[in-house]
Amino acid sequence: MKNVLSNKILAWYDNHKRDLPWRSYQGFQDKIYKVLVSEFMLQQTQVKTVIPFFTNFIEVFPNFKKLSKAKLKKVYKLWQGLGYYSRAKNLLKTAKIVQSKYNGRLPADFEILKSFPGIGDYTASAIMAIAFNKDYIGIDGNVERFIARLFGYKNNKKKFKNSILLKLKEIKSKKNFSLFAQALMEMGALICIPQNPRCNICPVNKNCISFKKKDFNYKILKKKVNIKRYYLLYAKQKNKILFLKSKKKLLQDFVNLPLIEYKKNLFNIDFKKNYFFFEGKPKIINRDFVHNISNIKMLIKIVLFKRILKINDNQFYWIHFNKIDNSLLSNFSKKFIKLVRTENIKYV
Ligand code: SF4
Repeated sequence: MKNVLSNKILAWYDNHKRDLPWRSYQGFQDKIYKVLVSEFMLQQTQVKTVIPFFTNFIEVFPNFKKLSKAKLKKVYKLWQGLGYYSRAKNLLKTAKIVQSKYNGRLPADFEILKSFPGIGDYTASAIMAIAFNKDYIGIDGNVERFIARLFGYKNNKKKFKNSILLKLKEIKSKKNFSLFAQALMEMGALICIPQNPRCNICPVNKNCISFKKKDFNYKILKKKVNIKRYYLLYAKQKNKILFLKSKKKLLQDFVNLPLIEYKKNLFNIDFKKNYFFFEGKPKIINRDFVHNISNIKMLIKIVLFKRILKINDNQFYWIHFNKIDNSLLSNFSKKFIKLVRTENIKYV
């Protein structure tokens, strides 16, 4: 039974795997490097989003040597639009370590991989299996869903993750570690998809408990969503837009619209005292714009200013409209500048 399952999964993968850019390589070292870059990019991000970023990135930085000499700003620029910029920073740090300490060769050692910036248990396992064909399995959301449904596990116990891991150890291929790890991910991504799993074409439907019971819901625990409220201060004058330096270290290299968190009372921020002097009354658009980051739901009210007279706080600064596209605009700021433009949100 164990081998029957892994054989079915491997045979399906052989016939249906996607033609992804990190699956095409010239030689072993090229493969290792591409697997590493793709694993960094795929953290929290879908395959179809990653593909164009990966292709551009590899064109500019085709190997550890080139990447290790890169300036962080250039790496960020190629990452722009992909989000979670700590990954870009950590990938660059990792490349520098690999180049200087390991002569440009990524070590095939789980513990050493885990010691690199931005590589945790999952990424180290995925690299060990996919790149080095070692006996590891990276359990991402796709693999978890596929195995949970196949064996009818519900995510309502602390033992859930452990049960998945034990089951995988039992059914895994005994030699094709790399192919098997990729096949599991691909099954979750293409067949055992979150909504309406494609059971009629699934190679293991005869073995699947969820299919037998017609019960595909394995996620009992829901992530708690935190709601936070913000003012977005939007000021545009003389073709310049007002921005705010971020206090968060990670965002300091980016250009961000001013975002001020508030608690209950909407009108209790004294802008004049805290930030700047302005003409007239700030105009608050009485509508909550939503922006989600991980499990935080941001409810944002846009505050418009007629004219800023004097800035009190040197964290605020202006950028000319024409130069904004050349700046490292954060995803959040890009979205809201577009929104203000397209919805024609104005002071008057
Ligand atoms: S039969 Fe359906 S639920 Fe079961 S593993 Fe296949 S796609 Fe997923």
